[in-house]
Amino acid sequence: MTSWNLTYTGLDPEKEKLRETLCTLGNGYFATRGACAENGADSIHYPGTYLAGGYNRLKTEIAGKIIENEDLVNLPNWLPLSFRMNGGEWFHIESVEILSYEQKLNIRSGILCRVIHFRDQQGRKTVLMNRRVVHMGNPHLAGQETVIRAENWSGEIEFLTALDGKVINGGVPRYQSLSNRHLDPLCEEEINKESILLKVQTNQSELRIAEAARTQIFKNGDFVNPERYCIKEPGYIGQTFSMEMAEGDEIRLEKIVSLYTSRDKGMSECGCQAKIAVVEADSFEEILKSHALAWEHLWHRFEIDYYPADPQKGKRTSRILRLYTFHLLQTTSRHSMDLDVGVPSRGWHGEAYRGHIFWDEIFIFPMLNFRMPEITRSLLMYRYRRLDKARKAAQELGHRGAMYPWQSGSSGREETQKLHLNPKSGRWNPDNSHLQRHVNAALAYNIWQYYQVTEDLEFLSFYGAEMFIEIARFWASKTTFNKEIGRYEILGIMGPDEYHDAYPGANEPGLNNNSYTNIMTVWILNRALEIWNLLPETDRNPLCEKIGFSEEEREHWKNIARKMKIVFHKDGILSQFEGYEQLEEFDWEEYKKKYGNIQRLDRILEAEGDSPNRYKVSKQADVLMLFYLFSAEELRSIFKQLGYAFKYETIPQNINYYLKRTSHGSTLSRVVHSWVLAR
Ligand code: BGC
Repeated sequence: MTSWNLTYTGLDPEKEKLRETLCTLGNGYFATRGACAENGADSIHYPGTYLAGGYNRLKTEIAGKIIENEDLVNLPNWLPLSFRMNGGEWFHIESVEILSYEQKLNIRSGILCRVIHFRDQQGRKTVLMNRRVVHMGNPHLAGQETVIRAENWSGEIEFLTALDGKVINGGVPRYQSLSNRHLDPLCEEEINKESILLKVQTNQSELRIAEAARTQIFKNGDFVNPERYCIKEPGYIGQTFSMEMAEGDEIRLEKIVSLYTSRDKGMSECGCQAKIAVVEADSFEEILKSHALAWEHLWHRFEIDYYPADPQKGKRTSRILRLYTFHLLQTTSRHSMDLDVGVPSRGWHGEAYRGHIFWDEIFIFPMLNFRMPEITRSLLMYRYRRLDKARKAAQELGHRGAMYPWQSGSSGREETQKLHLNPKSGRWNPDNSHLQRHVNAALAYNIWQYYQVTEDLEFLSFYGAEMFIEIARFWASKTTFNKEIGRYEILGIMGPDEYHDAYPGANEPGLNNNSYTNIMTVWILNRALEIWNLLPETDRNPLCEKIGFSEEEREHWKNIARKMKIVFHKDGILSQFEGYEQLEEFDWEEYKKKYGNIQRLDRILEAEGDSPNRYKVSKQADVLMLFYLFSAEELRSIFKQLGYAFKYETIPQNINYYLKRTSHGSTLSRVVHSWVLAR
């Protein structure tokens, strides 16, 4: 196994869904899970195709309340390509004896291959090979090839090729009691003998999606064109055709698919465009070539060389690095730049987190800024277009400036669910995670980082400064002055550690003086003033008039930035939030013994009728985020400005303290920890 391949040998039904996620192919415009082409969704497989930003909202009644969720919609499945012998059952991996099975994702070229050698119940031995791409050069194109070789049998084989728009959003067991039917059928049409078209529409966001498929057939290398029978049902179109096979014969099917939507630019109508694209598409072999070339160009910019001390371990690390980069580039690419989308925390690879945009881009920007800053600029523009929504959100809570939502989707309204299901207890509980206002700090940080790398003053003048100042204004208005101590405080929020959303026994959610948030606020106020001074006068004056930014306000900010309260424990450790020191220590050993994996302590404790709010436990890096984002020198200067002592030794002390109390219940946690530890 080289470090450019992710290889699985043998089918493991339990792990198939995770493999499908890791073998997802995408191009920043759409993505398709690495599910097999022969079967639809069942207990093992979950084929899913998702459009970047392809959201739809549905209402559901839960616990007597109507809740509305915006989901990333599972689009029509373009994969179906199945077969059966002599009128028997359609192929299903579980009804045959597997003689060998290998699935390989070629990370360098973005090609997924599966080779299965099997014997069916009639003793027929067959080789099934499937190769697939979602084109990285042409975002509207995908293709797959299936080869069937009859090893020891002769007889009839029937094929089915289809576009299935009867799919639902059924990928996440936790969401199963929520409404999940997003698509209405619009049209099913046979374009010509070898091509079909399906058009559907999302039932709330009115996004029309057209998929067209051309299936060509080759027997022992020669093009053949057997009669086809067309099946049409609302939301579904397929073709079947039969052929004779003799021992040793090989049949190869090429299915080329185009996908367009009513939001695409440079076209009239998506159905028409999908038809033209598929009729005019190259052969599968040509598509493979142009696709691999597009990936080669991407790797030129993004490959990270890694020279390990131990070559064996190094190969694994290299593979992981490449796989992560691969998925990042499949989620956000030059094809997403025009789409008005953010970067979703789980890619466009499935339905968990509903394709929502959180603060995770703070971890992704550094990679993109240096290699393709055009992408980061487009991701920032996604935020800029939602600035008015953020202003409204701030206003509704009596604040000023702009308050971006914790989870963002199509319109920029708060998409965090109101209730969430603990699968361990089966209970629906209030979800207070929207109190993570620190997403606003991440946005500001990202704007500054983008500017630092690119010196794109035009972006800063037109969009970045306005967003930055409005975010700073929100933070300034979120502070309250505590006369007794003569310092400013930030009350009633949540930090990145989602285990704590309230004080033990409190009726209201929210925590006070989260160190990460308070220090970020000081940094933001400082930078906002710096950005203000950076703007050319021709841009500064109109912005000043538009958002009314006065000298008095700037003085007020300077004052907050000198007098923010930071809470320390008695021994000088930065307190995650005020009151953290008084919480109980947690019995980590006991819980590890009892549950094994305790990453999701929140679910475990809630199921026991307890709450992580009572303990010194963290889901992920919170205070340590500061050492992830800032150098010791930057922190020293902030502390000096605030009149607090800062010793470099406190950094390792803080790391040790929180490392012992963190369960890494978010994958982000290890990213931060490994960085601060490496430093
Ligand atoms: C983490 C958040 C993160 C979200 C999406 C949650 O589990 O706690 O910090 O933004 O997942 O990745």
